[in-house]
Amino acid sequence: MAYLIPTFDLWGIALSFAIGCLTIYLLLDLAKRVRSADRGIAQLWWGGGAIASGTGLWAVHFLIMHARGLSIPIGYAAPMTFVSWLCAVGAAAIVLSVAMHGALSKVRLIGSAVVLGIVLSIVHHTAMAAIELAPGVSWDGPSITLALLIGIAMSAVGLMGIEKLSRRSGILAVFVQIAVSIGTSAGIAVMGWLAMSAAKVPADAICFSVMALDGGHASDLTMITVPLLLVCTLLSSITYGWLDKRRTLLAGSLEHVNARLNSANDELRQRAMLDPLTGLPNRLLFEDRLAQALLRADRAKKSVRGLREKLAVLFIDIDSFKPVNDSFGHAAGDDVIRQVAQRLREEARHEDTVSRVGSDQFLVLMEGANSSNDCVALAMRIIEAAKVPFRIAERKIQISVSIGVVVYPDHGEPTKLLAQADAAMQVAKRAGRGTYAMFESHMHKDVADQLDLINDLRQAIELSQLELYYQPKIDGKRHVICGVEALLRWHHPVRGMVSPALFIPIAERFGFINAVGAWVIEDACRQMEAWSKDGLQMRVAINLSVHQLREADLVSRIESALERHGVKSSHLLCEITETVAMQDITATQRTLDGLGKIGVYLSIDDFGTGYSSLSYLRQLPARQLKIDRSFINDLDTSDDAKAVVDGVVRLAHALGLRVVAEGVETASQRDILLSLGCDELQGYFFAHPMSATKLLAWTHGHKPKGTVDFAQSLMHRSITA
Ligand code: C2E
Ligand code: MG
Ligand code: MG
Repeated sequence: MAYLIPTFDLWGIALSFAIGCLTIYLLLDLAKRVRSADRGIAQLWWGGGAIASGTGLWAVHFLIMHARGLSIPIGYAAPMTFVSWLCAVGAAAIVLSVAMHGALSKVRLIGSAVVLGIVLSIVHHTAMAAIELAPGVSWDGPSITLALLIGIAMSAVGLMGIEKLSRRSGILAVFVQIAVSIGTSAGIAVMGWLAMSAAKVPADAICFSVMALDGGHASDLTMITVPLLLVCTLLSSITYGWLDKRRTLLAGSLEHVNARLNSANDELRQRAMLDPLTGLPNRLLFEDRLAQALLRADRAKKSVRGLREKLAVLFIDIDSFKPVNDSFGHAAGDDVIRQVAQRLREEARHEDTVSRVGSDQFLVLMEGANSSNDCVALAMRIIEAAKVPFRIAERKIQISVSIGVVVYPDHGEPTKLLAQADAAMQVAKRAGRGTYAMFESHMHKDVADQLDLINDLRQAIELSQLELYYQPKIDGKRHVICGVEALLRWHHPVRGMVSPALFIPIAERFGFINAVGAWVIEDACRQMEAWSKDGLQMRVAINLSVHQLREADLVSRIESALERHGVKSSHLLCEITETVAMQDITATQRTLDGLGKIGVYLSIDDFGTGYSSLSYLRQLPARQLKIDRSFINDLDTSDDAKAVVDGVVRLAHALGLRVVAEGVETASQRDILLSLGCDELQGYFFAHPMSATKLLAWTHGHKPKGTVDFAQSLMHRSITA
């Protein structure tokens, strides 16, 4: 039989190859898009991408078919052309589905390549079938088989390209993508060519679909529209990929910043919970752990084993720690505290909580003890361990500890455990130190008293029962008031006026001093603002407790109170008792420096009671030194007291500090102090502490009975250092 000789259009073949390259390049790019973490977006890319690249695949076959065409007029039946396009879109959808579902196993690769090869063959044959010829085409079996095999192999190469490229980016990946595109496209061209060669059209064949889609116009239209569609889709895909990468990078850096912020926050939270000198949990963390342990203990009570288990709190206080600081220096004192902490950790079990709650006070929380004997055994081990001398800078330091033990549930109420352990510790101290005492019910009275007081104190702030009284300090040379000291007063509804000497130490022991201290700071600043509005410029001294100095935010709190009330920082003075300033140097130094930096003056209170080291005194950013009342008391009668005051005044002046004498009660004390060069005097001789209103009235001439008249010195006078 005679067959038609096929025509050959080189440009058509070249264009089909170029469109093939573009299509495969696009498919490889889309393979990355369909892996988007956002499922909706991935599916959009899958659908749109399949249509665009499927159209590309179809165009490749269509153009090859047209380039190796027939020498008779032909046309394409629309339904079959549409089916062929649909198959091409299906082939692209298969490729993108494979890419969407991640890693390719060998079996999946081969399976997908076979299906893809077959679908691509169908694309070609349905496109051929759209040319309705009579008599029909006869096919060359081996060529068709070879075309199919090439289609499968080319599909496998393309799919492997997708797999490799999914893990790469950068310029090299672009080259690989181009190479895979060229290779695969060449494969498709060969496949199409072979498939066309396999079709033998009889020489007398007539095309019945010649009136349908015009072959020439259809190929022109395809040549123009398909590349446009492919380029647009590719540009969208590349742009989206670039934007997505930037978004991922941005999210990554945000995540990085977030992670850093989180870790900084964790560190701050940790610091707020740990004692800076020993690294042990502080009172806050201890109380939290105790609350958790009590919850667990109450839950465990329901089981038989839980019924037997005990929980104990050991309150440990170092006996006579002050002499260690006084005789060996504060660095040695800090070292002893650190080593005591270490020994406590060694003696306690792994699951126990050891905490430092005061300068020389520790708490141990023991959980799951079988009997109170276990708790006593731990107390005895700690007492023995503390007795072993500490080696500090080639010297041996011997100390002892007193321990109060309270066991739950034996000793009842969970909210009182700390107070009960404290009361038992005081008993151990009275019993001769270096020993322990188990809490007993007769100690209840002290505990109950203290707890009542602290509970009342908690409400005192809300109920406005606290008030600051002010006691003037008199300038020795000019006989004018150069400032006042704010002294806390508590108007208790039942007990009457409670002395700060009573409630401040209890507030310190129960961890409530920071709230009281914060109220004092706020109220002193508020008062300074109010006085200033009345034309009274007054420097106010407040007393700070060591627990406040350990607060991380004390400086910022003082700074913000000053700012809020428009008070100059140099108008505020903070009094810190000498023993406090000397005791916990690590914790306090940072705060004292911080106060100095914001311009708040410091004063060393009750000087002479703590045997301060001169070198340390020099390091403190203090402006003032207040000689303790006990020295002033004896001035009239004792030459020794006079000599001490004389020495202190000289020492203070040598260090550039102003000297204040407190507790001046008589005219002769005043005269002696002035003759010794004391800068400021404070005491009942001049004025008792008085309310803010009384002080203001005094400045307006309403002098309280028994006070010196200083009204003229107060008004509108600028503060001098
Ligand atoms: P301090 O800071 O040494 O205050 C001086 C104490 O001596 C005051 O006692 C004052 O009333 C008293 N005083 C003043 N002049 C004389 C005098 O001529 N003769 C005698 N015998 N006493 C005089 P007060 O107000 O009872 O305060 C006792 C201590 O309580 C204060 O000692 C201070 O350490 C503490 N305190 C007072 N207010 C506060 C506060 O707001 N915070 C803290 N943390 N402690 C405070
Ligand atoms: Mg004071
Ligand atoms: Mg004092």
